[in-house]
Amino acid sequence: MLLRKFEAYGFKSFADKIEMEFGQGITAIVGPNGSGKSNISDAIRWVLGEQSIRTLRGAKMEDVIFAGSSERRPLGAAEVSLIFDNSDGLLPLDFNEVTITRRIFRSGDSEYYINKSLCRLKDIHDLLAGTGLGRDAMAVIGQNRVDEVLNNKAEERRLLFEEAAGITKYKQRKREALRK
Ligand code: ATP
Ligand code: MG
Repeated sequence: MLLRKFEAYGFKSFADKIEMEFGQGITAIVGPNGSGKSNISDAIRWVLGEQSIRTLRGAKMEDVIFAGSSERRPLGAAEVSLIFDNSDGLLPLDFNEVTITRRIFRSGDSEYYINKSLCRLKDIHDLLAGTGLGRDAMAVIGQNRVDEVLNNKAEERRLLFEEAAGITKYKQRKREALRK
């Protein structure tokens, strides 16, 4: 599965709509300090359902919305979309292209969309579980994450192997079934 395109509007420093297209191979994002490189990885984590604002380097969820500058007024909402090439069918949806979108308003309400249809956060988690992109997966590795993994307790490290092996989603479904 390939991330084809990234779009953001109103997310952190991106007051204007930005679009980035990715090809095969490695893409590196370079730029001066404070130019927004990490904001791009924050946006990717966020749209994949990240709920911890600390992980996104903010104090409250609203902090992901463009806060204004000396020349521009703050915005009322932020939106990020990831467009995946799903021709290998890794995502269990019958589409060659899958777009995941998250939008947030100053009220704090988040909306999620799969291929432009409104869905729940749970649908995003279900879609991504076992693909390596889900919660706590290794698709985005933050600056301190490597140390953290090395220092993890055995049980915590096991969760990473379970996600990599694609077991997490079955454990999750089992937990849900037992709760009913
Ligand atoms: P470095 O090379 O230092 O890691 P970077 O390119 O990763 O820098 P980021 O951390 O992505 O930079 O961007 C930081 C910038 O984003 C800061 O200038 C900060 O003011 C701005 N920023 C963060 N949140 C918001 C927001 N909600 N509204 C407007 N600007 C924001
Ligand atoms: Mg950075």
